[in-house]
Amino acid sequence: MGEHIVSETNLKSMSELVSLCKRRGFVFQSSEVYGGIGSCWDYGPLGVELKNNLKQSWWKSMTLRDDVVGLDASILMHPLVWKASGHVDTFSDPLVDCKNCKQRFRADHIDLKKPCPNCGTRDSLTEPREFNLMFKTQMGPVEDASSMVYLRPETAQGIFVNFLNVQTTMRKKIPFGIAQIGKAFRNEITPGNFIFRTREFEQMEMQYFVAPGTQRDFFNMWQELRWNWHVSNGMRSEKMKWFQHPEDKLAHYADLAFDVYYEFPMGWDEIEGIHSRTDFDLKGHQELSGKKLEYVDQATNQKYLPYVVETSVGCDRTLLALMCDAYRTENEGDKENERVVLKFHPKLAPIKAAILPLMKKPELEEVASKLHKDLQENYKTDYDVTASIGKRYRRQDEIGTPYCITIDYDTLQDQAVTIRERDSMTQERIALANVKKYLMEKFKF
Ligand code: ATP
Repeated sequence: MGEHIVSETNLKSMSELVSLCKRRGFVFQSSEVYGGIGSCWDYGPLGVELKNNLKQSWWKSMTLRDDVVGLDASILMHPLVWKASGHVDTFSDPLVDCKNCKQRFRADHIDLKKPCPNCGTRDSLTEPREFNLMFKTQMGPVEDASSMVYLRPETAQGIFVNFLNVQTTMRKKIPFGIAQIGKAFRNEITPGNFIFRTREFEQMEMQYFVAPGTQRDFFNMWQELRWNWHVSNGMRSEKMKWFQHPEDKLAHYADLAFDVYYEFPMGWDEIEGIHSRTDFDLKGHQELSGKKLEYVDQATNQKYLPYVVETSVGCDRTLLALMCDAYRTENEGDKENERVVLKFHPKLAPIKAAILPLMKKPELEEVASKLHKDLQENYKTDYDVTASIGKRYRRQDEIGTPYCITIDYDTLQDQAVTIRERDSMTQERIALANVKKYLMEKFKF
């Protein structure tokens, strides 16, 4: 910690973060000029950098290993896929309406014996009824039942139906996994809490195919790997915990499930699920399609449907957790020293370094813009010459930039710059010629 930091507080409310996200270009409301649209959000210039960095962190952790390969399946799939997967019949939430204020709730999110949580009326809630969460649309110019398709509610099924394509083309032996990042859509009854629960979101999923009977060992392996991945992104492990799904609440496809929970300002909630999906999905597709999806073990000549251990993490939800986790207010109430800082892990930070000429003078700007161009070959950097240096540091703190590089009049004499580190606020004088090497050392991950 730097000597100027006296006190540090965590994010207190989601609204504080929502306002920073809008003010600084992380996340905007979708279609804002039209008054917005329910629970849809757009990632601004900094948000998309952060999201891409997060996806890259996940993709690297999954595919830079011999036993996992990638896939990018389409969002629209044959409607029978969702029949076989069980989604047409069982992918629903219990919905209740308030007869007085017309508000809708998920029955499992409220106490049905109490008055309506919105208007307070007693005995106004209807009996729960099942509401299917899949979005429907039409494919082609004719709008009838035969042209109806779904927007996928999870990315996993694209992997299951491609299981044999991938296995045979890549000559993979069990155990092996297939990883995918992509959009999923759910017509959630009660979306909310910013990007925590939305109707359109991105999932990062990996299905790991194993021999029946070995799933528990691989489940344990992935549980550990996934926990460590969150920690490797800088998430504080004391803000994470495991939650095991009770047996009577397991999803229709699972025989074991653990979630990673994060402590958001509104309470603990899920960011990732690890599920043992048995052979439920492959069996369903094999039965309904009439095509064999069995794996042939070349060594023993055994044929079987593999079991699946799945890791399924929401990209948007994890990004939200990481933003909540990184958010700190320091020296609150002390006007001169108060600052908001996003303490992102440097690999996730949208901007890696900011180049700040001390003053708007051509001789300083010449050196600064040359350095900016040079660093931009490797990193997303910012160049800022407006306002006082203190204000510019605060601006970069608030978007989580790990390093600020100041070019001052001494630079013209000694060919050195001042590099300020975000969290400790300590400053070092580094030779201009060594800045790239310095950052390369810092960004070794
Ligand atoms: P929940 O109980 O919160 O509805 P779930 O258990 O249905 O979630 P899964 O089907 O296991 O979620 O999906 C895996 C991950 O996808 C979740 O851990 C979450 O990070 C993300 N996710 C699921 N639904 C949404 C949503 N509506 N908005 C944003 N992310 C979501």
